[in-house]
Amino acid sequence: MNLIEQAAIFIRRYYPRDHLYTAVALAVFVALLFVLPSTESAVAVPLQTRAPIPIATDQTSGMNQINLSDYVVPAGNEPLLADITIWKNVQVQSGDNLSAIFTKVGLSNQDLFRVLNSSDEAKILNRIYPGYELDFMIPDQGQLEALRVFKSPLEGYVFTRNDNSYIVESVLKQPDVQQTFKVGTINDSLFMAGQREQIPAVTLMEMANIFGGVIDFILDPRQGDEFSILYEEKYLDGKFIGNGEILASQFINQGKKYIAIRYVKEDGTVGYYNPEGESMRKAFLRNPLDVFRISSNFNPSRRHPILNTIRAHKGTDYAAPTGTPIRATSDGRITRASRNGSFGNLVVIQHNGSFETKYAHLSKYGPGIKRGVNVRQGDIIGYVGTTGSATGPHLHYEFLLNGIHQDPRSILDNLPQAVSIEPGEMVQFKSDTTELLQHFSALNDTKFLNLGQPAAD
Ligand SMILES: [Zn+2]
Repeated sequence: MNLIEQAAIFIRRYYPRDHLYTAVALAVFVALLFVLPSTESAVAVPLQTRAPIPIATDQTSGMNQINLSDYVVPAGNEPLLADITIWKNVQVQSGDNLSAIFTKVGLSNQDLFRVLNSSDEAKILNRIYPGYELDFMIPDQGQLEALRVFKSPLEGYVFTRNDNSYIVESVLKQPDVQQTFKVGTINDSLFMAGQREQIPAVTLMEMANIFGGVIDFILDPRQGDEFSILYEEKYLDGKFIGNGEILASQFINQGKKYIAIRYVKEDGTVGYYNPEGESMRKAFLRNPLDVFRISSNFNPSRRHPILNTIRAHKGTDYAAPTGTPIRATSDGRITRASRNGSFGNLVVIQHNGSFETKYAHLSKYGPGIKRGVNVRQGDIIGYVGTTGSATGPHLHYEFLLNGIHQDPRSILDNLPQAVSIEPGEMVQFKSDTTELLQHFSALNDTKFLNLGQPAAD
């Protein structure tokens, strides 16, 4: 189907017959506005020179600019210039309200109520947020012909006038998804490595989360560690509109290779698994700090001196700026959130299996954190500080089993896997992931010289 046919279908769909003529006129005028360069001499170009009308390929901004291919009309329909107006675009800013926006484009509250009462879908207008795009078509002053409301470049509604009400159609666009492969080498920090390779920060964070049960991203990374990520990028009409999911990732930490692949289970849950079907999500996070919240002048790959601020030191100290969020390393129940001598502000969490974790020297507690509250892995339970006997801001973290202090690193290596693919689903898992894994492995082979050794666990 060519664009002219598409345009004709679009116009038939969005414009009742008695409005079609106006729409055609508008469309041609709009097309002219965009076809002609905005110099004075160009404006004088006679109408008959306009065919063929160039097609706008840039539709992404989607909705914040006129989409030429939507409005191109067959040659021969001459515009009636007197009747013409164009779409007025409004990008919702924080603090905007709908009534003020309608006033700004020259519409009354009555127009607003007509649209609002036209359909259930119109309720979206009661909940507009910054970033929404509104496009008004107002051919005659004060006469709203059509309104487009887009929450994102991909999703929105078009309201079209029909007598005194409006017909609504929802618009859902599918982005084109492409895969991107990036590799990085740690010289200073994971963050810096990601920046060097122009890996989106959110993707790098997601990778750190995926491996958060097997790698402590503050203490474990070493110079020369290598990682790779295969992830999705979304495009709409050729223009980048955002990043998608990580499909596969590999991290070689001190010679140990970890691979995680994305898999959607038969029950619909999404997770990351190693090639054998073991979940990357473990009972405990290796690190209670969100490495990316640590300020950029903090170098996570550097080894930190043990501060020994507490006599008979029995924990791990993570130097980090005051205010860095601290995460519960596993699901559990808060058994203490109060001051305790040299620990300062202390949070203690009781976990399943007779495990207990302690977090000391906090500057303050996380929202809603108090004795008796249940928390999930990753919940913010407090913030780094210097309360109690601490000479500088750091988190003192303890890990106990049956009341006895443990080195979490050696214990966690030997814990049974939290969740894995059930035996009955392994055939499906293998068939869904084999091709991805082979593709990912081939990409890695072209990039890495040192492939590392498979991780022992
Ligand atoms: Zn300590």
